[in-house]
Amino acid sequence: MHVGILGAGQLARMMAEAGGPLGLSFSFLDPSADACAGELGRLYVGQWDDSSALQALAECDRVTADFENVPAAVLARLAEQVAVRPPARAFAAGQDRLEEKALLEGLGIPVAPVAAVNTRPDLLAAVERIGLPAVLKTRRLGYDGKGQAVLESHEDLEPAWQRLGGQALILEGWIDFDFECAQTAVRSASGEVRCYPLTRTVHSDGILRLAASPAGVSAELAGQASAAVTTLLEALDYVGCLTLELFAAGSELIANEYAPRPHNSAHWTIEGAVTSQFENHLRAVCDLPLGSAAARGVALMFNWLGAMPERAKLLAVPGLAWHDYHKQPRPGRKVGHATLVAADQASLSEALEALKPLLDRDTAGLLGRLG
Ligand code: ATP
Ligand code: MG
Ligand code: MG
Repeated sequence: MHVGILGAGQLARMMAEAGGPLGLSFSFLDPSADACAGELGRLYVGQWDDSSALQALAECDRVTADFENVPAAVLARLAEQVAVRPPARAFAAGQDRLEEKALLEGLGIPVAPVAAVNTRPDLLAAVERIGLPAVLKTRRLGYDGKGQAVLESHEDLEPAWQRLGGQALILEGWIDFDFECAQTAVRSASGEVRCYPLTRTVHSDGILRLAASPAGVSAELAGQASAAVTTLLEALDYVGCLTLELFAAGSELIANEYAPRPHNSAHWTIEGAVTSQFENHLRAVCDLPLGSAAARGVALMFNWLGAMPERAKLLAVPGLAWHDYHKQPRPGRKVGHATLVAADQASLSEALEALKPLLDRDTAGLLGRLG
């Protein structure tokens, strides 16, 4: 079977790595000629609406995406010729933060208070209603915390407006969360849903840095997360993997956003689960039986930002797996990750003691936030 992927970044690369052993082959469309999945299949370089590249993708057996902002209209057009999974409407609703929040709220999944902001008076009215602190976000195209401004006091309003005004925005109430977590699940075309264990996430400056599984939460909170993601998958008639990002505050989970694709918080599933998110995504997309989403042990993932660290010493840590995405270094760019997997928490802590002195200070400092 030949799978077309819109986007050829690291998620497409890891899909191709998972799909090879299943006998799948890949074509990619990406605006960038040096997109890192390109070496694992046939890369078409062009914009998302490039008609000759889209014609080639329409001839694939299935089409999926590694990027949530592929125009939903392009996916809908492709869907007239080939099975596009996840469905275009899962992308459409997630591409506008206001629509996304309304969808979640309509399904009974709690979200932060939110207001549309198009003008300065809208911003003042929204701050009046929601209060501070709050966060002003572009409705579209944000990722890794880009296109956001945290408003602590009224003095922050004008600079935030200067930076973000003129685009469709939302104001979102600040959630004073205890911690963040992410629930990944996969759904097959026949409606079977499998949830991975809940993952605890640590962000810094809006970028995911660490992911730990299991999340170490009560069975009740874990049950809330899997119930919420299952409701969402069913409402979207979804096929493939999806991740719902959540804030844990007291006994409540508040949804932040969802990603209709494999997700950074579940990279640990490559070594730490029976079937990785990438393989399960492809199994769902290609109508193959889903694999078990159970964990093989406990896992902790580190994102490498900017440039890959020196690997020689790190690879000596038992249970550490290495992923270099073959991307050019650039400040803040996700260029790779490593996952530490162990049979139980005690062995993970032991391996972590060996790893800690080898980490940069910034990354080591974030470990304290895992609780
Ligand atoms: P991603 O790369 O996950 O797509 P994004 O640019 O879409 O990121 P968000 O997920 O909205 O951004 O926010 C990034 C991070 O900023 C969150 O994971 C969280 O740490 C913080 N954050 C965002 N909104 C809020 C909020 N309302 N309350 C508290 N923290 C928030
Ligand atoms: Mg996002
Ligand atoms: Mg996010």
